[in-house]
Amino acid sequence: MSKIDGVPLLDLKAQYATIRDDIQKAVDEVFESQYFILGPQVKALEEEIAAYCGTKHAIGVSSGTDALLLALMALDIAPGDEIITTPFTFFATAGVIHRLNAVPVFVDIEPETFNIDPAKIEAAITPKTRAILPVHLYGQCVEMDEIMAIAGKHGLRVVEDAAQAIGSEYKGRRAGSLGDIGCFSFFPSKNLGAAGDGGVVTTNDDELAKKMVMMRVHGGEPKYYHSMVGGNFRLDAIQAAVLRVKLKKLDEWTAGRQRNAADYDRRLGEAGLVADKVVPPPVKQSRHIFNQYVPRVRDRDALFAHLKAKNIGCDIYYPICLHLQECFAHLGGKPGEMPVSEKAAEEVIAIPIYSELTKEQRAYVIDAIAEFYKG
Ligand SMILES: *Cc1c(COP(=O)(O)O)cnc(C)c1O
Repeated sequence: MSKIDGVPLLDLKAQYATIRDDIQKAVDEVFESQYFILGPQVKALEEEIAAYCGTKHAIGVSSGTDALLLALMALDIAPGDEIITTPFTFFATAGVIHRLNAVPVFVDIEPETFNIDPAKIEAAITPKTRAILPVHLYGQCVEMDEIMAIAGKHGLRVVEDAAQAIGSEYKGRRAGSLGDIGCFSFFPSKNLGAAGDGGVVTTNDDELAKKMVMMRVHGGEPKYYHSMVGGNFRLDAIQAAVLRVKLKKLDEWTAGRQRNAADYDRRLGEAGLVADKVVPPPVKQSRHIFNQYVPRVRDRDALFAHLKAKNIGCDIYYPICLHLQECFAHLGGKPGEMPVSEKAAEEVIAIPIYSELTKEQRAYVIDAIAEFYKG
């Protein structure tokens, strides 16, 4: 076996090698059909995703961002409406709120899970609040019972940003089935990644499902007669065909990620490598799907540079909290306002966790971290 001289953050070529024949056959079939947008492949994928997530409906869309946008549009989010969300997430979560001229209201996170802290939500509710948009960050579900109780008490809707959380569970129920609408991304780096952009929305609500199906194609029903304005939020048949092949492998890949995470937990802990490393404890009764494995570390930026020098892929999700982004300056966010999120932004580092990672590769990563802290 050749000596390892680096480990990528994600190795999609290794994954592709295991499914190449099935993918090529599936793509060929789409070309033979010349049916490229929506159609039978998308419909079949939607049925399979709904079954996987435990929801009545799944509607394929053009990206995770568009899933979020469509969900908020279907809930009639209007200019000036306030949506409560986390500042420690990918930009799209708050970007879609802004694009509807609604207002993102940020609530700080829990230190252990990096997810929005339900205990801090009620203080942020005003007469303008319309919805809560929790994010199941890194693949672990938010404390949804508490979120749903607050939403019920105040008459708010709940949209789950489950872009990183397909198959993750909260008390035995899957992400995307817990709120009013679930939003998923099939960006290639997600656990279920397409060969390009894609996404899906899930819901148990028949009315919302019907509305989102209409709004996915500009809101016309019948065609060319518009009682509402939607967009082009359609999913391509090629993406659906690829995703259907990959969905069959998803549980196996998730098990691989969980296995790798447990190995990192054990070996980092055992070696006492990182004095103040915090392994995020899993939420009770949840199934963490590890879209990312994210320790908190001392001297993060120096460790980052050290790992890069060793050819180890790593990344910071996310270095700047959303309340401090320049484009949201008009909202008046100030440093120090979201202390838990701001501290996380300085301490987190994502290291390779993908399913095909070998024992030798994991050892290479651990050894590099050990070398950094022990000199
Ligand atoms: C990836 C991601 C999105 C956006 O998904 P795209 O498919 O890239 O548009 C939204 N929210 C979170 C938390 C994500 O990780």
